[in-house]
Amino acid sequence: MKNIRNFSIIAHIDHGKSTLADRLLEYTKTVTGHEMQNQVLDDMDLERERGITIKSHAIQMDYIEDGQQYTLNLIDTPGHVDFSYEVSRAIASCEGCLLVVDATQGVQAQTISNLYLALDHDLAVIPVINKIDMDSAHPDEVEDEIVELLGCDPSEILRCSARTGEGVPEILDAIVKRIPAPQGDPQAPLQALIFDSVFNPFRGIIVYFKVLNGTIHKGDLVKFVNTGEQYHADELGVLKLKLAPRDKISAGNVGYIISGIKDSKEVRVGDTITHVDNPCSEAIEGFQEVKPMVFAGVYPIDPEDFENLRSSLEKLQLNDASLTFTPESSIALGFGFRCGFLGLLHMEIVQERLDREFNMEVITTVPNVSYKVYDKKGNMTEVHNPAGLPDVTTIEKIEEPYIHASIITLSEYMGPIITLCLSKRGTLTNQKYISGNRLELSFDLPLGEIVIDFYDKLKSISKGYASFDYYISSYRESKLVKLDILLNGKPVDALSSLTHADNAVSLGRRMCEKLKELIPRQQYDIAIQAAIGAKIIARETVKQVRKDVTAKCYGGDVSRKRKLLEKQKAGKKRMKQIGTVQVPQKAFLAVLKLD
Ligand code: GDP
Ligand code: MG
Repeated sequence: MKNIRNFSIIAHIDHGKSTLADRLLEYTKTVTGHEMQNQVLDDMDLERERGITIKSHAIQMDYIEDGQQYTLNLIDTPGHVDFSYEVSRAIASCEGCLLVVDATQGVQAQTISNLYLALDHDLAVIPVINKIDMDSAHPDEVEDEIVELLGCDPSEILRCSARTGEGVPEILDAIVKRIPAPQGDPQAPLQALIFDSVFNPFRGIIVYFKVLNGTIHKGDLVKFVNTGEQYHADELGVLKLKLAPRDKISAGNVGYIISGIKDSKEVRVGDTITHVDNPCSEAIEGFQEVKPMVFAGVYPIDPEDFENLRSSLEKLQLNDASLTFTPESSIALGFGFRCGFLGLLHMEIVQERLDREFNMEVITTVPNVSYKVYDKKGNMTEVHNPAGLPDVTTIEKIEEPYIHASIITLSEYMGPIITLCLSKRGTLTNQKYISGNRLELSFDLPLGEIVIDFYDKLKSISKGYASFDYYISSYRESKLVKLDILLNGKPVDALSSLTHADNAVSLGRRMCEKLKELIPRQQYDIAIQAAIGAKIIARETVKQVRKDVTAKCYGGDVSRKRKLLEKQKAGKKRMKQIGTVQVPQKAFLAVLKLD
């Protein structure tokens, strides 16, 4: 055990975590030349294309220094806020971490939030300035920022280029020298922390764990404490680039177990594995049920695809336990599902995976957060969609989730960013200079306000120089109303949304304007209205047009005429018929990107 080192790499997105992992694997010869691709740990296609790590992964390296053989377990973590619970469990499996900061970007919002997670778990932190090969690198300033952040000595900060490999040997040396070996008693009752799981179509669910105490042997009967499920450890092993089976895994080490689990809901990240016969007296602390915070309706474009969509979502859920879905129906869109996501990025990823992996084209409705609605008798229900809001006369109060947000930016963008957050019902709680003209702004904000068009706005007003991170801090009372959109007097439920009373009029107006742009002229006028209850608060009209596409080829040849009609039909397919009105698919999404 004294020669084991468990560590993770934490960083703001794009600061070079995965690339640095590649260099470490290469240097320790864990992967050989022909196996090497960029970001080898990101094995989902989508991860490669987007260049982000969605699921965390682990890999074991052998490393020899001063004649001693070391086992280094690298646990790669996703850096995005939506997946922060996975980051925190991965970090809890380590004794140390590399804190990677891009030499051209400096400390960013997720650098800080991930660092706090690491410090919460008492990890040894090795600060690393990456990308020193770049012309725009300013490592000395970034060094000052890190010294300020960590209160460390500048000599403790390493510099490297994950692209060229410069500085990588020094990083390995620091991992061995500065990160403590794991502790734990191999003879004690088994206590292993689940930090990740992946779905393999041939093997079922593969569960990744770190043994804190005790030893797990192949064939042992084990149980997962929080789910209460029991399994035989059919296969055990350590994680090289491929699975490497072993007969036992002892305290301090990281491994995997395969035991015929087919459903990811049986495996909860953060759960404890112990023996059924000599169980540990308590589960590992910090276990948390991940709760979806953002909800949206997901509907097949072709209503016939409803059952296909269900089976696709079931398959997706096999390896993404944080995705939830329940059937719902919409007058406008037919049968679909209300899906729960960890956040907006998660929602986008699910939508894209449905399209790519299952060839399912879907319409997603306006997302909303989960509200707590109390009736006059004091009963609370969680409301996940506009249709679920009970009759106003029965409601005592409604609470909405608030976040604590941290934004790092340049001082010149401070004014516009504060204005933006205030307009989103936020309050500025703190401001602090990090170095020179860079500062961190802290806000309390309603989560519901950042769900729709916050990121894009933040990005554009700061010209990309703002990084953002948040965690859910509390629920607070709110004045919530249901905003309906009517087309020719008919409410389109898929366009309804829940919003704060103060925003309703301006949101209603903007939605009507946007829809006017997007709904093509048809053979009669179309009235677009926004309403709260029976009260109309905004109105636009799409004027009628009469268009006969075949008129142009009067007397022309028949096949040309037929082609034109077919083209028109195909165009129609991408529309949804709502009452008498044709609504293009993109109208359902456009409301997410209001100006
Ligand atoms: P992650 O999001 O932290 O995992 O970041 P990645 O490892 O995916 O890197 C983000 C981008 O930065 C990729 O395009 C990398 O090729 C690039 N990159 C990473 N490290 C270096 C480096 O040391 N030098 C240069 N020039 N580019 C780098
Ligand atoms: Mg990555």
